[in-house]
Amino acid sequence: MRASSNMKITVHGAAGEVTGSAYLVETERARVLVDFGMFQGGPGHDAKNVLSAGLLSTHLDAVLLTHAHLDHVGRLPLLMKAGYEGDIHATGATRDLAGLILRDSAKVQAYDTERRNRKRAAAGKPLLTPLYLPEDVEKTVQHFHGIVEFDRPFSPAAGITARYVDAGHMLGSASIELTIQDKGKTWVVVFSGDIGPTGLAIVRDPVTFKRADIVFMESTYGDRDNKPLRETLAEFRAIIEDAVKQKSRVLVPAFAVGRSQQIIYHMDELFCSGALNPFPVYLDSPMAIEASKIYRSHPDLFDEEATALVRACEVVRGQHYVIPTPTPEESMRLNDATGPCLIMAGSGMCNAGRNLHHLRHGLSKPETAVMIVGYQAEGSLGRQLVDGAKEVRIFGESVPVKAQVHTLNGFSAHAGQTALLSWLGHLAPSKPQVVLTHGEARGRDPLAELIRKHYGIRAVLPVQGDIIRP
Ligand SMILES: [Zn+2]
Repeated sequence: MRASSNMKITVHGAAGEVTGSAYLVETERARVLVDFGMFQGGPGHDAKNVLSAGLLSTHLDAVLLTHAHLDHVGRLPLLMKAGYEGDIHATGATRDLAGLILRDSAKVQAYDTERRNRKRAAAGKPLLTPLYLPEDVEKTVQHFHGIVEFDRPFSPAAGITARYVDAGHMLGSASIELTIQDKGKTWVVVFSGDIGPTGLAIVRDPVTFKRADIVFMESTYGDRDNKPLRETLAEFRAIIEDAVKQKSRVLVPAFAVGRSQQIIYHMDELFCSGALNPFPVYLDSPMAIEASKIYRSHPDLFDEEATALVRACEVVRGQHYVIPTPTPEESMRLNDATGPCLIMAGSGMCNAGRNLHHLRHGLSKPETAVMIVGYQAEGSLGRQLVDGAKEVRIFGESVPVKAQVHTLNGFSAHAGQTALLSWLGHLAPSKPQVVLTHGEARGRDPLAELIRKHYGIRAVLPVQGDIIRP
């Protein structure tokens, strides 16, 4: 069978790690790239953020995106630099959010490169150049042509039909099914993208597929189930109610895209249901303010609860409790804001950004509450707070931690082990070849074992550059 088809898929990232997602699908007639994400944080990630020789020499017909996160879109500007002329297909929300995320990425790179180059210049080392510039990002954004709608199949290249369904991971996120014709044979290949958990705020639950020949599946949390959202929401509510009683200021370090909108949604739930009287929620991040605008401009993608909440909030929102503070001056004035209030600022792991100022100002005060709502990597300031540090260093100063620090673990935008297994359960009767990606060994190894036990399928665990054939 193998000799009769040329169809093959090369794994160009997220193989044994959670970043750098990229797959090249090739048939005799067509070449399509699914996602082209940036490697972030892993060993040697800088060296891996390149257009590999295999891609550089390939004429691409189209690019398909599952969703807007940097680890799925972050290398796209490299394609433009290499002269890519084709379309980038994505949902409208992914197009808008990817533009925001890529522009921010170019800015961060420019800043980082300048900072590192100052040291390198002083040490007489050759200077670095950023991976790409803002103008490469603008060129990229111009290639987002066809806007993809869920469940409306289209043909991105000769002999290939693509169908997007909602993946429930962030606004506009998709899983993609490709029906591929090659030399008289037809193959169905599914790319899960990142799969959301059931019940994630704002977005709909992930949609599954019925059959496939090959499934590329994420395995981020293949080793565990996340804490149930309703338990986390009960903790969330208790913290907010306590803040009202104590008139405290709640500091929330949050990623600008996704998590910030999720937290505002849960505040809306409390305020608009009449459970609590609205108090100011400061959105102290220019990027989160932009992302929130993009979210609001795609109400067609909201789930039923979010649609109902928008309606319920119409009246209460008239009180304007969500207050954007885009400028640095407005941000600084928040030092004088009285409680109860909630201040949400980046960065999500407290390594940089405006929340460092808020933490320096608030950590030493027992009436401050810090609410950690996202993953904190080893070595980050956020992680030190989660681990109960009594003193931390911010801007070179030591700051005693007297604030109450709460860690909420159930806001994940990824499906846990049980949900991943049941997602695959719909496809399993068609006995596909299952390729586990987007997961470290600790996630994908146990998931592979469970897939074998439950469905009798031996999953493939590729390394970077591996080629998958039907
Ligand atoms: Zn993602």
